[in-house]
Amino acid sequence: MIVAKGSAEAGAAETAAAKKTAAGGRTAAARKATAEGRTALAKKAAAAKKTTAGGRTAAAKKTTAAKKATGAKKTTGAQKSAGNAAAEGSAGAGSGGAARKPESHLAMVRRARRIYRELGEVFPYAHPELDFRNPFELLVATVLSAQTTDLRVNQTTPRLFAAYPTPEDMAAAAPEELEELIRPTGFFRAKTKSLLGLSAALRDRFDGEVPGRLEDLVTLPGVGRKTANVVLGNAFGVPGITVDTHFGRLVRRWKWTEQDDPEKVEADVAAIFPKSEWTDLSHRVIFHGRRICHARKPACGCCPIAPLCPSYGEGETDPEKAAKLLKYEKGGFPGQRLSPPPDYPGKPAPPLGETAQ
Ligand code: SF4
Repeated sequence: MIVAKGSAEAGAAETAAAKKTAAGGRTAAARKATAEGRTALAKKAAAAKKTTAGGRTAAAKKTTAAKKATGAKKTTGAQKSAGNAAAEGSAGAGSGGAARKPESHLAMVRRARRIYRELGEVFPYAHPELDFRNPFELLVATVLSAQTTDLRVNQTTPRLFAAYPTPEDMAAAAPEELEELIRPTGFFRAKTKSLLGLSAALRDRFDGEVPGRLEDLVTLPGVGRKTANVVLGNAFGVPGITVDTHFGRLVRRWKWTEQDDPEKVEADVAAIFPKSEWTDLSHRVIFHGRRICHARKPACGCCPIAPLCPSYGEGETDPEKAAKLLKYEKGGFPGQRLSPPPDYPGKPAPPLGETAQ
């Protein structure tokens, strides 16, 4: 059984690293990470602008000119210019911007893969943001993460797993005790039902082990395709695309798909990338969605992939204002994991009841 980074195999290293961080350099490291994060993003955004190909540079200039002409930061016109910048740059080199052709499928695929590579440079440490030490813990944590943040789940699971470390233990739990332990994650009655059901199913049908196949995982109570892919990708090393709210929003903004249905989104994106990239792709996209490309206020002015994004201008384009929208390590704040991987440049999340910072 393969356990990916951030998992049980990395547990000892994570613990040591967390202790080290707590012991000493947390403040200094955090300051450094913040400064470096912001500087890196600014540099990255500037470099991206400089290094774009001829067509894209021309289109970007046009965008700037359009912005100046209108004097407005978030007008529909500016959005269109930025959108065309991405489309022209990737699809239409040589078009000179005269006729704006729709982006070809091939050009979109090339642009998508470039976004993936760029995000790899921005988030080389992208990882699952649920704390777990084995497949069972990841499965339970993922079920609990519905309708709440990974942070809240991570603050809740230490007590839960101390009380019920195995499927057999959890299947035998008194419902009201389980409810009380997972109450902070919300919807605790429905989630208790799922946890009792899936633990009993693991005990009775899978010898107390989490199965490593999608078709088995989705037969467990409370486990859908998204949860199954999270577990497969991060606890078994089986490539999976996780279409959560961030992933769906971003890939639609990038015009990788027009679908809303998660399964159709997954199929469209799966056709763009080799299978071996699916899990890392999910992490990078979700990291970008949580830190920079937010649902309501994307930080476009600080976005390192702005020249590749057809939706540039949907959010704040002023770099100073955009910088204030950055979250987690990119904004100098604690992350979501109480035990982040050793390469995570931000601060660990605080335990339940303690405030961040
Ligand atoms: S932050 Fe703005 S420019 Fe960046 S990916 Fe999101 S919508 Fe596009």
